[in-house]
Amino acid sequence: MKYPILLTNLIEHNIAKTVLGAVQKAIGITDTFIPLHEPEFSGHEWDYVKKCIDTGWVSTAGSFVEKFETGLAEYTGAKYAIATSNGTAALHLALILAGVKPGDEVIVPALSFVATANTVQYCGAIPHFVEISRETLGMDSDALESYLSEITEINPAGLTNKRTGRQISAIVPMHTFGHPSDIDGLLRLSQKLNLPLVEDAAESLGSTYKGQHCGTFGTVSALSFNGNKVITTGGGGAVLTNDEEIAKRAKHLSTTAKLPHKWNYVHDEVGYNYRMPNINAALGCAQLEKLSRWVKEKRKLAENYDAAFKNISGIKFVREPPKAKSNYWLNAIILNDENAEYRDTILETLNVADYMARPTWTLLHKLKPYADAPAMIDMNIAENIGKSLINLPSSPKLARRSR
Ligand SMILES: *Cc1c(COP(=O)(O)O)cnc(C)c1O
Repeated sequence: MKYPILLTNLIEHNIAKTVLGAVQKAIGITDTFIPLHEPEFSGHEWDYVKKCIDTGWVSTAGSFVEKFETGLAEYTGAKYAIATSNGTAALHLALILAGVKPGDEVIVPALSFVATANTVQYCGAIPHFVEISRETLGMDSDALESYLSEITEINPAGLTNKRTGRQISAIVPMHTFGHPSDIDGLLRLSQKLNLPLVEDAAESLGSTYKGQHCGTFGTVSALSFNGNKVITTGGGGAVLTNDEEIAKRAKHLSTTAKLPHKWNYVHDEVGYNYRMPNINAALGCAQLEKLSRWVKEKRKLAENYDAAFKNISGIKFVREPPKAKSNYWLNAIILNDENAEYRDTILETLNVADYMARPTWTLLHKLKPYADAPAMIDMNIAENIGKSLINLPSSPKLARRSR
């Protein structure tokens, strides 16, 4: 429907004001800038970091690293956790450990942070972008199954893309904004096609699917503790796995593949300097102590948003998918087609009012380095979400503000 210019401006203005009103209703009026996701250091962070400095154990050896790894394994139920320098490094290792080789193709959702694609490329492999589901905002396992049955064949090397002749060697779902992907569907497909599942669980620490933690379903998974994630170590990440061999190799590869010895420097393959420093792990140990509480608060905050947007037509608050409990890392709303054209005005209005809001990432296949990468032709849902989604302030402390 086309309105005259003046009327369009009025509608645009009203919608932006309505969204601002709902955000204010959910998290309160502010006179200072509210970031999208703010780190919080309200526990033992200072004590533990001081301990590192006082003892001199700040770098790639020290007791906090192991303590943090044990804590992560206990919290998620993964058998092994290996702490790394950042989430991108963890995902790179995870792909290597899943067996991704140069020249392979790896299935990646079109909607994700660029690291999901970059790490595939670091392996010398090629990301192959696929459609997401409107319900989970993660990979659509049904669409993927019919797509793969159309474009692949099984030959002695394994599953092969008929068009490119390249082997497909892994599926990398990403649990968008903390909402678990359709894990049942993806696991079924991964078993049927004998392809390892590598979860990019960077955003989903604390999210569960049928009661089990994200990051524990795949052969191997990656977490991130960047400054804007649910817990932070400044920079940091972790590889999760239930496989002892993979865990050993993750640690070996992340520590330059050096064979343990008191003084000799012998490396038995090309490794990486990807180990998390002790001083970062010290922060991590303190943050882990707060994690359960923060996930609860973030879920409460999501309820507040849900209530505030409930009666606004044409705008949908993104709720956790069925069978899942989300950590609601980033809250999000989706504008319907009519409102989507006003997205930038809404973003402008929120940011000017000191509520940080942003659109989602540019779809990966639209980025310059991936413009020629293989991709599903029909990715209408990803395209639509790319134009109509807005992320809203999501720090756990916003659930504590008196409204
Ligand atoms: C944050 C993030 C990463 C990478 O984490 P870093 O610690 O910033 O390297 C990877 N994938 C996704 C989806 C992320 O959100």
